[in-house]
Amino acid sequence: MSIKEKYQITRKKIPDDVTIVLAAKKRTAEEVAEAIDAGATDIGENYVQEAQKMYEHLGEKANIVRWHLIGSLQKNKINTALPIFDVIQTVGDFGIAEGIDKRVEKAGKKVIPVYIEINIGSEITKYGVEPEYKSILGLIKKISGNLKHLKVEGLMTMGPRFGDPEESRLYFKKTKEIFDEIKMLDLPNVSMKALSMGMSNSYKVAIEEGSNTVRIGSAVFGER
Ligand SMILES: *Cc1c(COP(=O)(O)O)cnc(C)c1O
Repeated sequence: MSIKEKYQITRKKIPDDVTIVLAAKKRTAEEVAEAIDAGATDIGENYVQEAQKMYEHLGEKANIVRWHLIGSLQKNKINTALPIFDVIQTVGDFGIAEGIDKRVEKAGKKVIPVYIEINIGSEITKYGVEPEYKSILGLIKKISGNLKHLKVEGLMTMGPRFGDPEESRLYFKKTKEIFDEIKMLDLPNVSMKALSMGMSNSYKVAIEEGSNTVRIGSAVFGER
């Protein structure tokens, strides 16, 4: 099956109000271009340098999609990342938030939307805030109160990429509860829109538990 067909089949399986962020790591620009032609609206990149190359190779097509950083951001890559990405999904500590905030204007932007990354026990990265309401709220309040170039627009969780997705259900449920509680607080510079959880193996469970943004790679592009 072509990437186009797989994207369209995946899109049909997922409710319209759930955003699909296509995880493009290790894919060629041709593969990503095919997905964009098939209707993909949002592209996720793990590495800033790969994103930069992808962006250049895609030319015009790069401008019709939203770019999400879904891998961890190192301080020395912030200046390169800011002009490319529309949203940074991986803010998991105040240090990186501060580093981003300092550089937003230099990148010609007023504000950059970010999601707070919560660590729910992933094998890929141990990065992120612990999945406790207090810790997550603490970080969000600190960002909200101090960094005027960041807008917190959601939460993101990695979770295990393999194994039984049912094992993540409780974490997804808990993350959704925290998302709702923080949303109700209506904090300045915080607008909780996106709950980014679920990948190829787990998106069904994640959506059942309230995810409205899934990050999908292998289900559309095939195994790496
Ligand atoms: C690779 C990756 C995904 C997608 O994983 P698949 O199993 O290929 O769907 C989602 N999120 C992040 C952060 C990733 O690195």
